[in-house]
Amino acid sequence: MVSRVIPVDGFDLVIFGGTGDLARRKILPGLFRRFCAGQMPEDARIIGAARSEMDDAAFRDTVAEAIREFGGAHRADKAQVDAFLERVGYEHVDAMGETGWETLKGRLRDGVIRAFYFSVAPSLFGALAERLRSFGLADDDSRVVVEKPFGKDLETAKKLNATLAEHFDETQIYRIDHYLGKETVQNLMAVRFGNMLFEPLWNAQYVDHIQITVAETVSVAGRGSYYDKSGAMRDMVQNHLMQLLCLIAMEPPARFSPDAVRDEKLKVIRALDPVDHHQIVRGQYDADDTQPGYRTHVDDLRSTTESFVALKCHISNWRWAGTPFYLRTGKMLRSRTSEIAVVFKDAPHSIFGPEAGTHRNVLSIRLQPNEGMTLGVTIKEPGPGGMRLVDVPLDMSFAEALGPDAEEVPDAYERLIMDVIRGNQTLFMRGDEVEAAWAWTDPIIAGWKRRGDVPKPYDPGSSGPEDALMLMHRDGRKWREIKS
Ligand code: NAD
Repeated sequence: MVSRVIPVDGFDLVIFGGTGDLARRKILPGLFRRFCAGQMPEDARIIGAARSEMDDAAFRDTVAEAIREFGGAHRADKAQVDAFLERVGYEHVDAMGETGWETLKGRLRDGVIRAFYFSVAPSLFGALAERLRSFGLADDDSRVVVEKPFGKDLETAKKLNATLAEHFDETQIYRIDHYLGKETVQNLMAVRFGNMLFEPLWNAQYVDHIQITVAETVSVAGRGSYYDKSGAMRDMVQNHLMQLLCLIAMEPPARFSPDAVRDEKLKVIRALDPVDHHQIVRGQYDADDTQPGYRTHVDDLRSTTESFVALKCHISNWRWAGTPFYLRTGKMLRSRTSEIAVVFKDAPHSIFGPEAGTHRNVLSIRLQPNEGMTLGVTIKEPGPGGMRLVDVPLDMSFAEALGPDAEEVPDAYERLIMDVIRGNQTLFMRGDEVEAAWAWTDPIIAGWKRRGDVPKPYDPGSSGPEDALMLMHRDGRKWREIKS
């Protein structure tokens, strides 16, 4: 594959929370990989800004360490690492006070793009936005990147939007959902809107149902106090799963532009019906022989927060009326799998007789592992023995399709940060989208509280609670396997 990397314009990127976990694992190694790919111009500068007191040299040491651990194939090339580190600096800044702001301002250059990444607790977003303006670091062309969680309900999300809006225009605000930066997610749009093949079938007439699964094997150990206040519904469904649902269900936008795409996503969220509480299953993982259960991990033996949720929902519009969407996500499940499955209806009549069985086409879109797509088609089993039908996959794995060049495909954070510098908001959530998603989620969470709902226990390494299987079984359907 010929490299098609297009360098971005010169920039100053300030990472508030530059010493934090996210910066160390994702943002800084991601920037390094873009540097190695030739996407960063000579005049790119990255400035870590955080509470710890350290100088440029000490911060560069931490960045070098992060690159060694998470930087990918080029991390061993010392010359490249050194060249990248030359572009990196640090400023000790207090988001809540006066410390560091004037000197940070002194580091910023005129004539290049200014972007400010808020990789800090959301409680600091307002203080940062306010100081960026009052100390004169940001102007009307600057961009701010905000991390999840974006609020914990509609009210807090509205407040956060209002606070940011006091200092920045919506066109300057980049709300990150890293699921939107995944190669497959963009490919989903290419497959839907770049081919004639699928779109005519992409509706209630031909699609039986759609499943979205985001399964994780990790527990909440180490982040229990944060997670227990949130739970799977707020942490995963309100943002990542809803975003995937929008991309799968939206109407074709008139063009591939930020607002055209986000207008269509917003319409999907607004067309979602409220969810009946019988159509939701919450779960909480138990202990097993090797480790404690959820309640021990969050240090609250009476916690009723869910580490798993499965639900069935409907989109009330012409395209999808009557087609159920099943969503499921959880911690400590059998394997780390993210998949969207579009399950088409049975052929209306089988000319092969009942012994051929029923066969359904399934388009499976894998976000991890092995990003790619598979279309299950029915063919005749080769060889003698009459007309026996068998399902075979038409497989498109990106790693295989790209061969050795797969390493060069930017990961979600890399792509999204470069989009910030390019000023492209297509893959970022707009304020009204986030609010609409909370408006749909809030009554579900409020209902649990009102009814004193207690999550069902499930075994670590399983597919979640038995009731989640029943959610589909009683509709005569079944979940796709979470493969180990
Ligand atoms: P962290 O606790 O590891 O780091 C927090 C950073 O904020 C540190 O650099 C700290 O110095 C800085 N900070 C704290 N108070 C400050 C102040 N008053 N002034 C200036 N800097 C201050 O947090 P993290 O895990 O890196 O997460 C950062 C943000 O990203 C959070 O909003 C989190 O929800 C979000 N996020 C994190 C992850 C992840 O994998 N870590 C994933 C998704 C979203």
